[in-house]
Amino acid sequence: MRELTDHRLRQREYLLRISRAMTEQLDLSGVLGLVITYAVEMLAGTSGLIALYDDDGDELRIRASSHLDRTIWPAFAPLLTLAPHEISRRGVDVLRDVASDTGMPLRQMIALPLTLRETPVGVIYVFRAALNVGFSADDRQVLQDFADQAAIAVSNARLYQSVLREKQRLDATIEQSADGVMIIDGRWRITTFNKAMEQLTGWSREEAIGRPCAEVLGIHNSQGVNICLTDCPLQRRPLQENPIAEGKVTTRDGREIYVQSRYAPQRSPGGQLLGAIANVRDVTAQKREEELQNTLLSVISHELKTPVSIIKGYAGTLLREDVTFSAEQYRDGLAVIEDEADRLARQIRDLLDVSRLAAGGMRLDPREFALAALVDEVVRSFAPQAGERFQFELRFPDDLPPVLADYERIRQVLANLISNAIKYSPEGGTIRIGGWAESERAIVHVADQGIGIAPEEQNQIFNRFYRVDNRLRRETQGSGLGLYLVRAIIEAHGGRVWVESQVGRGARFFFTLPLGHRRLPE
Ligand code: ADP
Repeated sequence: MRELTDHRLRQREYLLRISRAMTEQLDLSGVLGLVITYAVEMLAGTSGLIALYDDDGDELRIRASSHLDRTIWPAFAPLLTLAPHEISRRGVDVLRDVASDTGMPLRQMIALPLTLRETPVGVIYVFRAALNVGFSADDRQVLQDFADQAAIAVSNARLYQSVLREKQRLDATIEQSADGVMIIDGRWRITTFNKAMEQLTGWSREEAIGRPCAEVLGIHNSQGVNICLTDCPLQRRPLQENPIAEGKVTTRDGREIYVQSRYAPQRSPGGQLLGAIANVRDVTAQKREEELQNTLLSVISHELKTPVSIIKGYAGTLLREDVTFSAEQYRDGLAVIEDEADRLARQIRDLLDVSRLAAGGMRLDPREFALAALVDEVVRSFAPQAGERFQFELRFPDDLPPVLADYERIRQVLANLISNAIKYSPEGGTIRIGGWAESERAIVHVADQGIGIAPEEQNQIFNRFYRVDNRLRRETQGSGLGLYLVRAIIEAHGGRVWVESQVGRGARFFFTLPLGHRRLPE
């Protein structure tokens, strides 16, 4: 009686150890090894093995054994081909063959199918060397308990495998996502950082993982405040399901980009943050486009309004029936209207050019022509504007070969440069325009004696909508598009434009153009 209780107690202890091992290690063969070792011991067997069906479910393979070396596993193959219902009838014969093959004293066998929710997953076998004691119903029950444990271990391992596969699939999806994906824990530390995120932020995942997200992806608002620190989207009250943050981010390599980050937080029932997934997108191009549209609109409304109101004012005055104007007054009024209409047309053309450029490049229609003649023509068109205050000095060598360029576009370049020379020389002065040939290209300059440009502004003035902030800027009309178009046109010709200047000492703009083929003397 006492012996039986001890036996039961030991069996409990083993089962407990097995279930502890199952929670501590997910390695299936380790747990199966324990199951078969204890089962053999409990049943006073000499050896035993566990075989599981392979993935197709039609062939048994040995996965663990007790007191049977791996090298002799193949000798047990005939046993494994027996269907469970054949074991009681043919098992003894087959076992005898195996015993003679292996030279092992295998005289008795008890086998029990392992089933998982009614599906057979394998068989557990225990062997004895002696024939004198048979396996009792009690032994069968003991083996059943171990078989149940083995089946649970198989179930756990399969669940673990499928979770692992699912996780690998998820990891691959995150890794290959075109959007930046970042996962953070409940303490705002980064735990996952995908490839797109590395490219977006310039941070490598090794550096980023473990750091606070506000450091790696500090999203700044237009006032330059890091909103991830002051107004974390995951902490905004009331709590939002999918908060969004948008703003500027300075990348690890110093680039400035504009991002939109969407968060999917995970919270405890009490609302505490457990973690979150952030989907981050670079929206710099869209943002620039938006800004351009806004600037275009404000420039259009601001800049185009002035000539229109001047034209309207003069036309209205000239139409008054209660006033008699002299022929000269009429002519002067109409001349102003014509000038303003020209200015309006130029500005509309500039704006159209800018949107065309934004939409993808500039089409050129190049032909050969003499620069000096074109400059002469453009200068003459500025005579009314230049008045008495300006003198023009043109210097082009007689043997300057023709340039190969788009005539109308170069006229636009010269007009913009000359118009600036006049606008930014409040005291008047001499405007010198000249050119020379140098290895297959012409270098042209337009120089004035005006207010000049500070060195730090000299690169900026070629940017779209950029105007130097000074008194003259407020007094002269301009959209900040002239030099941007000059550069676009010259670069479309494969040339270069630059400026040399000192504040108060005038400015000298240079540009290069390709020369046409020199004509051979006849
Ligand atoms: P806009 O004249 O319409 O402002 P531009 O693109 O032609 O635009 O010129 C950009 C800025 O460069 C001007 O606002 C002005 O501050 C500066 N700039 C251009 N040309 C000259 C010049 N010849 N002398 C001094 N400053 C100039």
